Amino acid sequence: MEDAKKTCLVCKKDENEIPLIVMKYKGEELRICPQHIPVLIHNPQNLVGLIEGAENFTAG
Ligand SMILES: [Zn+2]
Repeated sequence: MEDAKKTCLVCKKDENEIPLIVMKYKGEELRICPQHIPVLIHNPQNLVGLIEGAENFTAG
Protein backbone atom coordinates (compact mmCIF):
# COMPACT_ATOMS: atom_id res chain seq x y z
CA MET A 1 0.00 0.00 0.00
CA GLU A 2 3.04 2.25 0.06
CA ASP A 3 2.49 3.23 -3.54
CA ALA A 4 -1.03 4.34 -2.76
CA LYS A 5 0.40 7.23 -0.78
CA LYS A 6 2.28 8.55 -3.78
CA THR A 7 -0.87 9.96 -5.22
CA CYS A 8 -2.93 13.09 -4.70
CA LEU A 9 -4.85 12.37 -1.53
CA VAL A 10 -8.02 13.74 -3.10
CA CYS A 11 -8.10 12.54 -6.69
CA LYS A 12 -5.51 9.73 -6.46
CA LYS A 13 -3.63 10.86 -9.54
CA ASP A 14 0.04 10.00 -9.39
CA GLU A 15 3.11 12.02 -10.24
CA ASN A 16 3.18 10.62 -13.74
CA GLU A 17 -0.20 12.16 -14.46
CA ILE A 18 0.08 15.49 -12.68
CA PRO A 19 2.66 17.43 -10.63
CA LEU A 20 2.23 16.70 -6.96
CA ILE A 21 3.15 18.86 -4.00
CA VAL A 22 4.59 16.89 -1.10
CA MET A 23 3.63 17.93 2.41
CA LYS A 24 4.89 16.61 5.69
CA TYR A 25 2.34 15.85 8.34
CA LYS A 26 2.73 13.85 11.51
CA GLY A 27 5.89 12.27 10.22
CA GLU A 28 4.28 11.15 7.01
CA GLU A 29 4.32 12.55 3.53
CA LEU A 30 1.09 13.64 1.96
CA ARG A 31 0.76 14.53 -1.68
CA ILE A 32 -1.73 16.82 -3.28
CA CYS A 33 -2.05 18.12 -6.82
CA PRO A 34 -2.32 21.82 -7.67
CA GLN A 35 -5.95 21.30 -8.58
CA HIS A 36 -6.79 20.30 -5.02
CA ILE A 37 -4.66 22.81 -3.10
CA PRO A 38 -7.66 25.18 -2.92
CA VAL A 39 -9.60 22.42 -1.19
CA LEU A 40 -6.88 22.17 1.42
CA ILE A 41 -6.83 25.94 1.90
CA HIS A 42 -10.50 26.81 1.76
CA ASN A 43 -12.41 23.63 2.48
CA PRO A 44 -10.22 21.51 4.73
CA GLN A 45 -13.38 19.94 6.14
CA ASN A 46 -13.65 18.16 2.82
CA LEU A 47 -10.47 16.30 3.67
CA VAL A 48 -11.89 14.69 6.79
CA GLY A 49 -11.45 10.99 6.30
CA LEU A 50 -8.58 11.58 3.87
CA ILE A 51 -6.15 13.14 6.34
CA GLU A 52 -6.11 12.14 9.97
CA GLY A 53 -6.96 15.21 12.05
CA ALA A 54 -8.36 17.20 9.15
CA GLU A 55 -11.36 18.12 11.29
CA ASN A 56 -8.97 20.31 13.27
CA PHE A 57 -7.70 22.23 10.24
CA THR A 58 -8.97 25.75 9.86
CA ALA A 59 -9.76 27.38 6.58
CA GLY A 60 -7.32 30.06 5.40
ZN1 LIG B 1 -5.88 15.96 -6.87
